[in-house]
Amino acid sequence: MSRRYFIAGNWKMNKTPSQAAALAEALVKNIGGVTKVDVAVCPTFTSLDVVGKIVKNSNIKLGAQNMHFEASGAYTGEIAADMLLELGCEYVILGHSERRQYFAETDETVNKKTCAAINAGLKPIVCVGETLAQREEGVTMKVIETQVKGALEGVCDKGIKSVVIAYEPVWAIGTGKTATPAMAEEVHAFIRKTLADKYGEEIAEGVQILYGGSMKPENAPELLAQKDIDGGLIGGAALKAESFTDLVQAALNA
Ligand code: PEP
Repeated sequence: MSRRYFIAGNWKMNKTPSQAAALAEALVKNIGGVTKVDVAVCPTFTSLDVVGKIVKNSNIKLGAQNMHFEASGAYTGEIAADMLLELGCEYVILGHSERRQYFAETDETVNKKTCAAINAGLKPIVCVGETLAQREEGVTMKVIETQVKGALEGVCDKGIKSVVIAYEPVWAIGTGKTATPAMAEEVHAFIRKTLADKYGEEIAEGVQILYGGSMKPENAPELLAQKDIDGGLIGGAALKAESFTDLVQAALNA
């Protein structure tokens, strides 16, 4: 099975439109021509337009960090799939642990958003991950299974082909603590098995499963060498052109 590596940058609530434009321009210069690895950047909503125009003629894809599941209506402060598509988004991050933790996202809302994104033609990057307390309690796999199955409820064989899963242990996000390659691989393999039980081996083998959690150029080679780790969802190290470029290079070398 030849899954492509995928390096996606989650810029979170960082950078004004002009700062985002400067980073996007540097990335286009450094890695805009990369064809052997999938690359995406996910700026804030307010920078999607300007970044989208800069990456448009490169191989760097555009993604958003969230969306609402309804197509339109009285949802003050929210953004719908069509709005993202018109700005050139191909991807949307859904169910990030920060959204679950601070904005009351649940498996149910993540599921509604996943289905809405697929139906609209966006590729959802669905985030799952256990907290430190859950890992210490020994319930990591149960938590992951519930989140994966919850997000994919009602997603058909065709739909799953546009889904990317990101395993992001909550305790490793922005903390400098990374899951060891073996720890991460154990969960990635479990996610793939969960997908295989639902969709069959062949489809599961085609799904990109990214690791996220303090991934940086120094630890990327070992993580990317694992059988079921197909790339990274990168937070902190995506905010500088140099480190993000090095991560894409690590994927090219993997
Ligand atoms: C993230 O939030 O998606 C993430 C992985 O962040 P960091 O790389 O900073 O840990």
